[in-house]
Amino acid sequence: MREYPYRRRRRELRDRLRVGDADACVLYAGRNLQYLTGFQAEQGDRHLLLVVPAHDDPVFVVPALYDEQVREATDIDDLRVWADEEDPKALLREVGSELGLAGGRVLVDDHTHARFLLELQAALDTPEVGLAGDVLGPMRRRKDGTELDALAAAAGIADATMTELRAMGEEAVGLTEQELARAVERRLTGGGGEGVSFETICASGPNGAKPHHSRSERTIERGDPVVLDFGTRVDGYASDTTRTVVPAGDPPEGFPEVHEVVRQAQRAGVEAIEPGVTAGAVDAAAREVIEAAGYGEAFLHRTGHGVGLDVHEEPYIVAGSDTELAEGMVFSVEPGVYLPGEFGVRIEDLVRVTETGCERLNTSDRGWR
Ligand code: ZN
Ligand code: ZN
Repeated sequence: MREYPYRRRRRELRDRLRVGDADACVLYAGRNLQYLTGFQAEQGDRHLLLVVPAHDDPVFVVPALYDEQVREATDIDDLRVWADEEDPKALLREVGSELGLAGGRVLVDDHTHARFLLELQAALDTPEVGLAGDVLGPMRRRKDGTELDALAAAAGIADATMTELRAMGEEAVGLTEQELARAVERRLTGGGGEGVSFETICASGPNGAKPHHSRSERTIERGDPVVLDFGTRVDGYASDTTRTVVPAGDPPEGFPEVHEVVRQAQRAGVEAIEPGVTAGAVDAAAREVIEAAGYGEAFLHRTGHGVGLDVHEEPYIVAGSDTELAEGMVFSVEPGVYLPGEFGVRIEDLVRVTETGCERLNTSDRGWR
């Protein structure tokens, strides 16, 4: 059982609930619950939830089969355990009336299943609900030392994986995208990562021009550019990095030039980062380089996204965002150019905002050879 830093986070949440005029925050299993307690699980079909009241100690409602796991993982004292033959809604009513929540305003996790939400609202008698993400998102976007260490370790495993893949060279020719993606995933877990943080993207040749392409049975040929986008986790914290490489042979006409434009755009985005600068300004710095080269229309997505317990979280590095960057934020900078029928190029590093600028968490070679 680890006490630090969960108590501090729950204290901050309670302060924010009071300021925001909410009576409680209710979290079912998921990343927000993990952030506040250390307990990690997926949302199942039983009511398993933490109630953090603005003015009382938190209460953990736990199905009996999770009892031991929750006790081992968390420092929450007040556990209300219910067995399968009992009615959890009666227990929720009891907790709600004890905490005086009736008629109050409750924030629920953005990912709460609809059935849980409806049963919860009825049991607590709280018709007015808001989203917990509105309060927890801003808390989670600045990482503390423990979180930064985990993120750096996860990024390091991804970098080591990329370095090994690059060394494959000619060996990658003749593999299908599926096979190369599996080779990526074996290396991520072999390097000490906890599985993958999202399904590995391996997009070769024209498939690279589809930003949402995952992987297919297409065989990688000599001269094909390959977009590789992947990550793993350490202590629950994700990594996410992309390199576009040509394993062997000569690339298609125009590819080296486009690759260089994307690389310069990525560098311009990273160089724009420092505390106080807006997320929108970082997006603009990267986008300007691509627009100046005449590929503005081919850069189809935002420049980046925050990374933490979730692979996509605040802050979003998107045009027009006035979110100010602050020390401890971690996000991706990943401009791309996608030319339908030809190829795509994306280069992605995670960065952390420091006191005076930023530091890249990914440092593996960004070239295409
Ligand atoms: Zn990515
Ligand atoms: Zn990303």
